[in-house]
Amino acid sequence: MSIVDTPVNILLVDDLEENLIALEALLANEDVVCLKARSGEEALELLLVHDVALALLDVQMPTMDGFQLAEFMRGNVNARDIPLIFLTAGSADSPRRFRGYEAGAVDFIQKPIEADILRSKARVFIELYRRKLQILTQRDALEVYANTLRQADQRKNEFIAILGHELRNPIMALNAGFKLLEKTDDPARQQALHERMKVQTHHLSRLIEDLLDVARIDKGKISLKPQAVSLQDIVQSAVDIATPKMQAGDHTLTVSTPDQTVWMYGDFTRMSQIVSNLLTNAAKYTPTKGKVHLEATACEDHVTIAVQDNGIGIAPHARNHIFDLFAQSKGPDARAGDGLGIGLALVKKLVEMHHGSIEVHSEGTGKGSCFTVRLPVQNPQA
Ligand code: ADP
Repeated sequence: MSIVDTPVNILLVDDLEENLIALEALLANEDVVCLKARSGEEALELLLVHDVALALLDVQMPTMDGFQLAEFMRGNVNARDIPLIFLTAGSADSPRRFRGYEAGAVDFIQKPIEADILRSKARVFIELYRRKLQILTQRDALEVYANTLRQADQRKNEFIAILGHELRNPIMALNAGFKLLEKTDDPARQQALHERMKVQTHHLSRLIEDLLDVARIDKGKISLKPQAVSLQDIVQSAVDIATPKMQAGDHTLTVSTPDQTVWMYGDFTRMSQIVSNLLTNAAKYTPTKGKVHLEATACEDHVTIAVQDNGIGIAPHARNHIFDLFAQSKGPDARAGDGLGIGLALVKKLVEMHHGSIEVHSEGTGKGSCFTVRLPVQNPQA
């Protein structure tokens, strides 16, 4: 039940019990609860704990009369805006009315009360109160929404800044390469420069492919080309892709796969992308001469591929968001700055498109990480 559908309170204040009972009989129903007070003091106590849509105040009461109670209510932040209707027994002459309106009355009703008039007046205020609640609820929802948008905007701006950096580095390296090429006639030197420029071009196109993949997945535009593939071939292809990064970090990569060929059903390129991404991350986030181990196992209905490194590890608070788009946690060295924070988000989406799951385990910063992917062996739709 939303706050807008919950019953609304009306405050009835009269020193005579029978009047309170009569008013309640007129006004209470499944949507309206009547809070009854025999004195101004009792009314103020009720107002401390209840929100009220309307107050009906008897003018003549011993100790604190209706006008005095109204003045107290006007001085109270929580009760200040409650509409007040005064119930008067005698004729409400002008000076009395004036005092009532000064105290915040919106209306006077003469006793004996005409039931229909009271009911329809009360209905108007109840409706106004409900609208107010509705507006407040919508305002809160809008605030949450605006906050989410603000955060997304901030993350987008940060992302654009990182993207600028990431694109500038290989472009600067390519520029420098062109300039050096112009200055040399030595074929061996030219060959070396070509090789270095090829690496930068590859890095650039990898970045752009990842960006396009994220956009395509978001729009549901990536379609898999599933076929029978062997687990061993997927692992081999991923190892081939990650080898330059492993070598650059002087890491030792060990791989263990089942002896028997394990057949799976999936998109070979995407599956290999999943595993190679985990391997290149392991290389990237492990200090030089690290150890990376890939363990692939199979059981009847699924395979498990675990990539374990002894690198910088992941702090507990960062683990919850590591698969979010643009998530990057700052490592102890400059490594976190190198990347866009889209690789793992992409990996997770690709794993899910294959009806699998991925999880990360790390004992904490400096204690290495292990990413474990589970994929079904058979076509889950078969
Ligand atoms: P990127 O590497 O481009 O920053 P990813 O989505 O691949 O983006 O990774 C997100 C973040 O997860 C990285 O910035 C890094 O902080 C953390 N991370 C990923 N893999 C590892 C790992 N093997 N060890 C430690 N941290 C990792």
